[in-house]
Amino acid sequence: MVAEMKCVGYCRASSTLKSGWTYENPCRRFWGCGNYRKWVRGCKFFCWYDLPVNARSKVVIVGLRRMVADMEKERKKEKSLGILVLVVVFFVGFILRKIFS
Ligand SMILES: [Zn+2]
Repeated sequence: MVAEMKCVGYCRASSTLKSGWTYENPCRRFWGCGNYRKWVRGCKFFCWYDLPVNARSKVVIVGLRRMVADMEKERKKEKSLGILVLVVVFFVGFILRKIFS
């Protein structure tokens, strides 16, 4: 599979294969010009690579992405809590050492 090609718009810049993550087009790949959103002489070249995502796939993909995002949030909370526990244990150990030395 070709992952990069020249833009077929006017600019001929490098164009890469990207994935859309909107609700309407989750995981649907497209070709987009590297100059697409530039202010000066922005190129409008855009072309879908994949066929449209069917309704059932949209629901499943969006649901799975939401689950992964929720799991990542939980993992970050757990990591923060772990660091907090380590700091408290270190601090209490430091205080106890001062008291009993
Ligand atoms: Zn272009």
